[in-house]
Amino acid sequence: MPEADVPDPMRTPASREVHDLVYETFAKEGHAPSLAELARLTGRTITEIGAILESLANAHALVLNRDGDAIRMAHPFTAAPMAFVLTPLDGTDDRRWWGGCAWDSFGISAALHLDVRIDTTCPHCAAHLTLTSGPNIPPPSELAVRFPRPAAEWWDDVVATCTMIRLFCNRTHADQWTAEHAAGQGYVTDARTVWELAKGWYGDRIDRDFVPHTRDRNQDLLQRRGLIGEFWLLP
Ligand SMILES: [Zn+2]
Ligand SMILES: [Zn+2]
Repeated sequence: MPEADVPDPMRTPASREVHDLVYETFAKEGHAPSLAELARLTGRTITEIGAILESLANAHALVLNRDGDAIRMAHPFTAAPMAFVLTPLDGTDDRRWWGGCAWDSFGISAALHLDVRIDTTCPHCAAHLTLTSGPNIPPPSELAVRFPRPAAEWWDDVVATCTMIRLFCNRTHADQWTAEHAAGQGYVTDARTVWELAKGWYGDRIDRDFVPHTRDRNQDLLQRRGLIGEFWLLP
C-alpha cells in the first residue's frame, strides 16, 4: 500500500511504541493505560506522552476523553462502560471488555483471535441478548445491527456513533426502533455481515506488524460485505 497513506503519527518509533502499549494494555487488562503508566513504561514525561497521544488522536488511531487527559477509546476497545460486555468462553480466562458497539464487540473477538460471549440489550424491546462469537463462530443470523449515520459522519463524534451502533433481536425490531426514534435515518444490516466486516477491519489490529489500513482498503472491506452506496462512502 502507498506509504503516503499511512498516518504520520504511526511513523515515529515513539508513537508506535505508545500505540502498541495502549493496545497491549487493553488486550491484557481490559482497560486503557493512564498517561502516568505510559510515561513510566516508555521512560518519557507525561507531557511527552500527552503530545504523542494527541497526534495519535488527530490521526484517528485512538480517541481521548473531552479533557484530553485520558484514553477514551482505541478501536475496537473502549475504556468506559458501554452497551456491550465481552466474556471469554474459556472459563479460566478472567479478562472482560466493554464493547463500544456491535461492530467493535465482534472486532475485539477478531483482534484477540478469541471466542467470547457478548451480552447486550435490544434497544427496541429491552430483551437481554446473549450470543457467542469468535473468529470461526458467527453470530445468530436473525440478529440485526443498525448504523446510525453515514460513514462520512462517523468521526464527527465517534463515541456517539459507537454508542448508537446497536444489536437488535431482529430486523423488525431495528426497523420499529428506527421508525419511533430516527425515522428515515441509519442503515440496518444483519449481524453476520458486521461480524465478517469486523474480521477484516479489526482482525490485524493488535498484531505486531499492524499497519493502519488505507482508506481504500477499508472502503474495499465495506464493499466486499455488500455495504455500498453513499451511506458507506468513507471520507
Ligand atoms: Zn428486541
Ligand atoms: Zn464502534
